[in-house]
Amino acid sequence: MSIVSLFELPPEILELKKKVREFAEKEIRPLVPEIEKKNKIPDELIEKIYNPPNAFQATSFPKEYGGKGMGVLGFTAIAEEIAYFNGACGILVEIGELSGSSILFGTENQKKEFLPKLTQEGKIFAFAMTEPHCGSDAAAITTTAEADGDEYVINGRKWYISFADEAQYFVITAKTSPEKGARGISLFVAEKGPGVRLGKELIPMGLRGHRPFEVIFENCRVPKENLIGEEGRGLGYAVRTLHRCRISLAAGYLGLARAALDKAIEYAKERKAFGRSLYEFQAISFPIAEALADLEAARLLVYKAAWMYDKGENVAKESAMAKELASRVLLKAVDIAVTTLGGYGTIEDFDVERYYRDAKTWVFAQGTPEILKLTVSRSIFEPRRR
Ligand SMILES: Cc1cc2nc3c(=O)[nH]c(=O)nc-3n(C[C@H](O)[C@H](O)[C@H](O)COP(=O)(O)OP(=O)(O)OC[C@H]3O[C@@H](n4cnc5c(N)ncnc54)[C@H](O)[C@@H]3O)c2cc1C
Repeated sequence: MSIVSLFELPPEILELKKKVREFAEKEIRPLVPEIEKKNKIPDELIEKIYNPPNAFQATSFPKEYGGKGMGVLGFTAIAEEIAYFNGACGILVEIGELSGSSILFGTENQKKEFLPKLTQEGKIFAFAMTEPHCGSDAAAITTTAEADGDEYVINGRKWYISFADEAQYFVITAKTSPEKGARGISLFVAEKGPGVRLGKELIPMGLRGHRPFEVIFENCRVPKENLIGEEGRGLGYAVRTLHRCRISLAAGYLGLARAALDKAIEYAKERKAFGRSLYEFQAISFPIAEALADLEAARLLVYKAAWMYDKGENVAKESAMAKELASRVLLKAVDIAVTTLGGYGTIEDFDVERYYRDAKTWVFAQGTPEILKLTVSRSIFEPRRR
């Protein structure tokens, strides 16, 4: 149990948070060494996380589309709990939130068709935006989708696509009018099948088990009904989706930071040096005290952004601030944890080594810290672009 307190959340969210914590303690924690060793979340665990009644990836979505109707605040609360136990499982639920949130920009028919597959049938929808030559510059993609009768034909290569091997569907950005630049990008749902194949498997430094791949689309035919919303508005939908999803991602960072600090505290109490407990040295206890204050401050911002989102407010600035601050808090927390454990902190049996690798890997997802600062700066200096 963490020493970090919670401010009051609605009772149904607190209840779910507790349930998720109990689930993670029982089902995720014992499997972490296996996930690390095999770089894979066992299929049975994926099923337990994704299938009803748990279906944690369905938390935020409206009940009419099979979700739990608990909004971004509800999902934020559980994203923090899951990441406390394992970052890769955190990404697993996060890609459901990401793909499902972008489908919310679709027509009523599309929402009714695709969302229940994610929320009720446990299908995995990967999110495919990044390409080998561009990540932050999402308008520079070269993947194309050409209209051909009742279908679009998608060609291109996507890069660093989490859980691409496990996914049954991809939400993908592609250029329908390359000459229009950012305004020529559209969003599609593509089912895994003919025309979609996995390329290189990428082996990241941390978050083992989230299995990013290169994904190659070669004359992949999707029905016109799979174009989300309107042609040419795909990048706008994707960006607004990121504004929403950065909040729960930031909550994942808080969970991981909390796990690292809990380990540091435990060790500082147990370990003796020069006849004293480690925590009696202020060089050890003060950085922990400072990091806990930072963590509490970041939590307030993250949960405030979630609350604002659910009220229908524009959170472009707040979500960027929340994720950027949470990433700094996380990197500091894991550094303190490794320092507190000294040599033990660098050995794989001691968890904090994993937290350190996971943290450095995770902060680039869904907008690097620099891109988030760019978003915040623009909202200050060029507010009309907001
Ligand atoms: C754990 C993880 C999971 C991911 N999962 C997915 C996924 O499922 N689907 C998907 O599509 N992508 C995924 N990604 C990819 C991710 O979206 C990209 O890594 C991210 O957008 C950054 O792009 P990049 O890595 O190409 O870096 P680049 O954009 O090439 O940037 C390289 C460096 O330059 C900096 N930089 C770039 N532009 C500027 C600027 N204007 N000002 C200042 N600094 C700048 C960046 O901050 C970064 O430090 C994942 C990444 C990670 C780490």
